[in-house]
Amino acid sequence: MFKDLIAKMNRLNGQTISVPIECDEKGYIDKQCPSKECEFLFKVQKDDWKDIFKNEAVWCPLCRHEASANQWHSIAQVEHARKQTLAMVKGEIHNALLSGAKEFNHRQPRKSFISMTMQVKGSPVQTAIIPAKAVEEMRLEITCEKCNARFSVIGNAFFCPACGHNSVTQTYADSLRKIQVKRDSLDIIRQALIMSTGKDEAEVTCRSLLETCISDGVVAFQKFCEGLYSTYGEAPFNAFQRLEQGSALWEKAIGMSYSSWLEQTELERLNILYQKRHLLAHNEGIVDAQYIKKSGDASYKEGQRIVISEKDIGELLKHLDKLGSGLKAACNKA
Ligand SMILES: [Zn+2]
Ligand SMILES: [Zn+2]
Repeated sequence: MFKDLIAKMNRLNGQTISVPIECDEKGYIDKQCPSKECEFLFKVQKDDWKDIFKNEAVWCPLCRHEASANQWHSIAQVEHARKQTLAMVKGEIHNALLSGAKEFNHRQPRKSFISMTMQVKGSPVQTAIIPAKAVEEMRLEITCEKCNARFSVIGNAFFCPACGHNSVTQTYADSLRKIQVKRDSLDIIRQALIMSTGKDEAEVTCRSLLETCISDGVVAFQKFCEGLYSTYGEAPFNAFQRLEQGSALWEKAIGMSYSSWLEQTELERLNILYQKRHLLAHNEGIVDAQYIKKSGDASYKEGQRIVISEKDIGELLKHLDKLGSGLKAACNKA
């Protein structure tokens, strides 16, 4: 009666059971960084995974961990496959026992001294494998500017998973978005802090958060310029932290300066914000003669402390975004 079971076990031994993986409605499949510290979940376009990605190496969009293509199954997919395989093997064994018992009972002589019947409980079970479902679509869809691979993430992505390329324009767009989110979340943070720690702490924390938005923006633009500029030569240390010097470097490299994309008044406002950042970083925000001279900002006297408003951050983001798009387009053409 165990003939069926033995035959089945022999067939299962060493057999590869493949569990299909479904893509989401937009045609993306789930992948997950195999690095234990990261486990970043992202998606890749299914045709690109076949045509552009290489077996030898795939990179994590968040931490740039590198591993061969077969190591990027998501934890959920692996768990699903394990469960499906187990259910299938259990089902096959059950079915083999069932048919073995049936055959055994069938073979019993009609009239004998003792009659034996074999009973395996239950009816035959379905042993088909159910494909792993994809998680919900991700919001940020990116196409690598270098290899054209399409992938999507939630939150930030710094590297292309197909070629490892660090996109300065992508990172820059991400950074500006992050500053915007920080600014837009201030009210919620303030309310939460008032309830948990009190009004004073809430005010101090929110003001300092707002001030960090300025330096975040300046640093993001600096890194963006440094990356973009690297094909034209090496810029002097921290040159892109200063508007005038940065603008002059671009003028020399591509024949366009910041005034190609910003009006004079916009440039003046941006300069004031840059000088404010300088004060915050080096003089605890206290206005000195140099600030007044360099910024042309007549609204403060020496010894006062500068104030950063939410409107300031809005302006900073708007102008930096304009400069970024202009530079990107100009460098692509050059
Ligand atoms: Zn990672
Ligand atoms: Zn790429």
